[in-house]
Amino acid sequence: MSHFSYRNGILHGEDVPLNTIARDFGSPTYVYSKAALTEHFRAYADACKANGRDDTSSLVCYSVKSNSNIAVLNLLNKLGSGFDIVSGGELLRVLAAGGSPRKVIFSGVGKSREEMRLALSHDILCFNVESIPELHRLNEVAAELGKRAPISLRVNPNVDAKTHPYISTGLKDNKFGVAYEDALETYRVAASLPHIDVTGIDCHIGSQLLDDAPLLEAVDKLIELIDTLAAEGIHVHHLDIGGGIGINYNNDQPVAVGDYLSRLFAKIDAWRKAKYDNAPIKVLFEPGRSIVGNAGILLTEVQFIKHGETKNFAIVDAAMNDLMRPAMYEAWHGVQTVKQTTDDNAPVYDVVGPVCESGDWLARDRALAIEQGDLLAIMSAGAYGMTMSSNYNTRGRAAEVIVDGKEVHLIRKRESPADLFALESLLP
Ligand SMILES: *Cc1c(COP(=O)(O)O)cnc(C)c1O
Repeated sequence: MSHFSYRNGILHGEDVPLNTIARDFGSPTYVYSKAALTEHFRAYADACKANGRDDTSSLVCYSVKSNSNIAVLNLLNKLGSGFDIVSGGELLRVLAAGGSPRKVIFSGVGKSREEMRLALSHDILCFNVESIPELHRLNEVAAELGKRAPISLRVNPNVDAKTHPYISTGLKDNKFGVAYEDALETYRVAASLPHIDVTGIDCHIGSQLLDDAPLLEAVDKLIELIDTLAAEGIHVHHLDIGGGIGINYNNDQPVAVGDYLSRLFAKIDAWRKAKYDNAPIKVLFEPGRSIVGNAGILLTEVQFIKHGETKNFAIVDAAMNDLMRPAMYEAWHGVQTVKQTTDDNAPVYDVVGPVCESGDWLARDRALAIEQGDLLAIMSAGAYGMTMSSNYNTRGRAAEVIVDGKEVHLIRKRESPADLFALESLLP
């Protein structure tokens, strides 16, 4: 169920009318729903339980890069989440949010020595390694610290996730992961290094997947590889399927998380029964978008209406620096007026921001009954919204709030212009 809906003609986040949020916190503002975040996380946790898993045999590692506000991380941590990070900075966020490093996995193709040191010093659960040079670097850094680094190899199963090329990551010509054909040799290298502990295997084939078939196909390939490794005496203790489940942006019908996990666990159980005498393997997930995407909206105010020669523009106070997805992926986001409208003959607008780029648009060709000063909600903006924002055009980042029933909590202040150049200095 959506936690953003009209009541008495006004769009609400849970029990809070969005116009009061604009009044109290200004615009643009990201608004997240605590109930939605909770519900979306529980879809994973409950499906693990329903399929006979407990905390020792499954772990949901929320992908921090999709929405990294420490209030969001803190909430998910209380719900039992682990975390998938892609930088040292994200590890510090998890720690600031009260998360345990023992539930942190570290993904990414370009980990620096400093990031490795930080993660090793906190004894994170696992490094998801993506290349042989990375294995050697990690081995060296672990040696310096007198530690052994637990690793999983991110294997590229070469399956087509059938999603946007920019968010497809499991195909051959991709910078991510170790090629399937090279995985065995890479595991042999890992197993030979004195400060590396082989503990798992992982993949992440793409994002905004509506169907789970490519994920299940990827798991088949990982299972095959685990059997080959076992025959060589290399034993992996966890299988990490990555994230990638999509959300409804525009009449999309993503697979239900519970259905996907049932099929996945059935496959894994049958395999373990047939080949490993039912010995369990821990299963990890790295969902981002499917937890936060539809738990958030971007609230923005119409500044001007402009009638061009061939197009009408609604110029709003949010821009590509606030929500980059349309400019970057031509992504579609729903646009709803905060005041409910019913005009069937409303003019068609491009919703654009004030940034000096033609690529600065948030939505195109939308029929909207609006006038200057009206508030709009850009829907499905909880994932890869705030985290991808920038200060282009010296625009401070938006405020962020969480609604919880009738309450609104400010979780990030709006950036002031002075914040933006505080780290800069003049020449002597
Ligand atoms: C971004 C990312 C995720 C999360 O993907 P979603 O599509 O948001 O679920 C998971 N794992 C890795 C390695 C990622 O880079």
